[in-house]
Amino acid sequence: MSNPSLLILAGDGIGPEVMTEVRRVIDWYGDKRDLKFDVSEDLVGGAAYDKHGTPLTDETMAKAQAVDAVLLGAVGGPKYDNLDFSVKPERGLLRLRKEMDLFSNLRPAQCFDALADFSSLKRDVVAGLDIVIVRELTSGIYFGEPRGIFKEGNERVGINTQRYTESEIDRVARSAFELARKRGNKVCSMEKANVMESGILWREVVQKVHDEDYPDVELSHMYADAGAMQLCRWPKQFDVIVTDNLFGDLLSDAAAMLTGSLGMLPSASLGAPMANGRPKALYEPVHGSAPDIAGQGKANPIACILSFAMALRYSFDQGDEATRLENAVEKVLADGLRTADLIGEEGVQPVSTREMGDAILAA
Ligand code: ATP
Ligand code: MG
Repeated sequence: MSNPSLLILAGDGIGPEVMTEVRRVIDWYGDKRDLKFDVSEDLVGGAAYDKHGTPLTDETMAKAQAVDAVLLGAVGGPKYDNLDFSVKPERGLLRLRKEMDLFSNLRPAQCFDALADFSSLKRDVVAGLDIVIVRELTSGIYFGEPRGIFKEGNERVGINTQRYTESEIDRVARSAFELARKRGNKVCSMEKANVMESGILWREVVQKVHDEDYPDVELSHMYADAGAMQLCRWPKQFDVIVTDNLFGDLLSDAAAMLTGSLGMLPSASLGAPMANGRPKALYEPVHGSAPDIAGQGKANPIACILSFAMALRYSFDQGDEATRLENAVEKVLADGLRTADLIGEEGVQPVSTREMGDAILAA
């Protein structure tokens, strides 16, 4: 059998710097765990624009469609601010998401014990936190028609439409239940069924998918406003939260702040199952290209390394190896290693991107 395939798109800014450390982790798995990947690398974003005049070539798009998983660094930077909208670096990423039809966005909020004091909340509320928010990514109020600013009598009206079909709800619900089975086996679905028709349908379809195909998973429903409150009050009550595009946007950013730094947060965007039964998938750190620190060797590689851990778990069925990698991250943090973004008042000496990579490999 051939090795699982992985396309690496390091991108711009700190993307290539953090991705270099991930490459070393991938090589480590080949050498030490006999877990080999067919890795190919290509350009995306500003880097692709510089070479090809487009942020994503058709060839790269075709490769992304063919591999088992795509791992992306970051795109964009001030150098490209004045480009025409059609060739902006971000358009490369948007094209990937759209053409791969990645409708399920997984945003974990995981708080390593060593960083619990870095959170905006009390230590006991966040220490050991490990939840995932599944956000529907391709429909809902950001895309529904009609939309626009229209004339109505002698004033204007701004309109967006929240719109969900049964099949759109069905497929994202399934991805949340599948995910829950690989984790704590618990899903909380959030909407506003008390005031929104789409919320009523959402609740009904999620319940139906559950009853028919995932009765073994524990399911609860919550209004999204109450959910936001519970997320801040006692986030450890959740395992997987599934919600729509708008609520997911808000809730996942709020959840991110439970954990401290942007430099720690991985994400995955999943689509429909491929021939091998696994979903189409793109993994990327939540952070951007961080132009303010690019090229200085001080970016935190952990978000990107944890994105690869997600790939191990969700695309390559290597949950134990993913845990091995997460444990290594946990250990170096417990040992006190900190990149500059993880240092608050205490005045610890920061380590470089490479030193953090070295320590994780050693662990
Ligand atoms: P984008 O628009 O691409 O999302 P952004 O403007 O929201 O980008 P980021 O590029 O994510 O922002 O950077 C926000 C801040 O966080 C910057 O000050 C950056 O230096 C810091 N930052 C982001 N990622 C990291 C990282 N991996 N390590 C250290 N600092 C980081
Ligand atoms: Mg941003």
